[in-house]
Amino acid sequence: MILHRLTGRRACISCGATYHTANTPPKKTDICDLCGSSLVIRDDDKPETIQMRLVTYHTQSRPLITYYRKQGNLETYDGRESVEKITEEILKPVQKT
Ligand SMILES: [Zn+2]
Repeated sequence: MILHRLTGRRACISCGATYHTANTPPKKTDICDLCGSSLVIRDDDKPETIQMRLVTYHTQSRPLITYYRKQGNLETYDGRESVEKITEEILKPVQKT
């Protein structure tokens, strides 16, 4: 699922515009709508790179959730909210002090 979402990403080699083959496809396959240049899969978005990122997440990042929760130092935020809303939520406890 996440692999599908990430491997669909394409970037313009010239202007840097980004597309997604399923969600926001360009009008012409692999051609940038804005400047007409070719679209490529960035190294970051290649399946093998994504697999490595997932392994790193599960072995190194995810254990921190348990670690900080045990200490009572974990705050969680809904990443599907808007940037403005999340920023406000994160800043709330800081601004009180
Ligand atoms: Zn472009």
